[in-house]
Amino acid sequence: MNQSAFRSLIVGVDTKIPLPNGNWVTSINLDNAATTPPFVHVLNEIINFAPMYSSVHRGTGYKSRFTTELYETSRLIVANFVKADLNHDTVIFLKNTTEAINKLSYRLCDDNEKSVILSTEMEHHSNDLPWRNKYHVDYVKIDNYGRLCLDDLVNKLSNYKNAVKLVAVTGASNVTGYVNPIHEIAEIAHKYNAKILVDGAQLVPHDQIDMKPFGSPQHIDYLVFSGHKMYAPFGTGVLIGPKDTFNNGAPEYAGGGTVRTVTRTDVIWDDPPHKEEAGTPNVMGVLGLQAAIKSLCMIGMRNISNYELKLWNYTVENLKNLPGLRLYCDLNPDKPRIGIIPFNLDGIHHALVADILAAKAGIAVRNGCFCAQPYVRKLLMLPKEKEACIRNYHSHSRPGMIRVSFGLYNNYEEINVLIQTLRHILEYKDYYVNNYMTI
Ligand code: PMP
Repeated sequence: MNQSAFRSLIVGVDTKIPLPNGNWVTSINLDNAATTPPFVHVLNEIINFAPMYSSVHRGTGYKSRFTTELYETSRLIVANFVKADLNHDTVIFLKNTTEAINKLSYRLCDDNEKSVILSTEMEHHSNDLPWRNKYHVDYVKIDNYGRLCLDDLVNKLSNYKNAVKLVAVTGASNVTGYVNPIHEIAEIAHKYNAKILVDGAQLVPHDQIDMKPFGSPQHIDYLVFSGHKMYAPFGTGVLIGPKDTFNNGAPEYAGGGTVRTVTRTDVIWDDPPHKEEAGTPNVMGVLGLQAAIKSLCMIGMRNISNYELKLWNYTVENLKNLPGLRLYCDLNPDKPRIGIIPFNLDGIHHALVADILAAKAGIAVRNGCFCAQPYVRKLLMLPKEKEACIRNYHSHSRPGMIRVSFGLYNNYEEINVLIQTLRHILEYKDYYVNNYMTI
């Protein structure tokens, strides 16, 4: 399939939107790290399935059995996509990555023999905050480019002398797009009897991922990701991990669907994954996810990754020559990454730049700290006194950056519009700064 055909697989890429000046333009979405638009196939599958939709689990009607079968076989499709082994692992459907990490943080609390979690300085808040109130959390350092220091990982694992329960690391950064060497990290963690959680929210939609067989030193113990970042809205997230982790103890949410037997005094919990999915599950969301996976596999994850990296290269080659534009990631094209570019324009606030991109050209980007405040603060090399601005959420001087993030349907024409508009902003910077706080 050629790259221009990718575009026809996505809903809404040619939608016209109004600008403040009354003109209409084709919207340009460069905020795919936040959420992607849906695949056409996902919507079609949901409409096609809707006449058969019925109560999932325990219903005896034909439609109910059909719905249950579809819901349960989705686990296999998800497992195959990331090469998880369902003999050993379980696939739990949740709302999103954040819920999945919170669940794991609750679940791992059960055994008290180890109490240290190693997160990293480049994590999204969702792979940092859930660990904080339950464990001693330490952070693996980053280097001057914002890449993870594996030496520091080894030092910390060694210093904690086998007390580390889990290394919780992102597969790809939502700020810089750096891809971490997850299998190398897994091997290091396992050497110190720690397990590894990969936050796959950014990696899974943009590159091939292989959890590797249980027993391989490079095996990924836990993987989490979100449907809405992989062209499947409708609120499904995934937590994959060993059944053992969920076999014992009570789930943090209890209720219908989680139990085998209930008396007035006792409960016998069901096996995972069911005991971890309290209440009626999100069948349409899970169907959307499996349909998205089928589309991604049809295109080929390597094709997606190669194409998005071409977009990244083209954009960076142009942006790096714009005087007054500062990039916050290392530009070596050979280092593993996904298609994300963080930058600022000198002398003009990131929020204003983002507003002008939207108002002048209908371009959607993200600005701020992208739910990774400690990481962004480090990349900006903020002096300590500036940290107060971050605390004041509404301050106009609040530090941050602008981020563009590509999806498989973005194209060179859209990037040209971005570059032209940035050139325009740089040229008329004084005008914008003097006349607008926000547009
Ligand atoms: N981790 C990373 C790396 C992310 O980029 C995000 C979303 N921005 C999350 C976790 C949280 O994902 P969700 O909002 O789907 O829970």
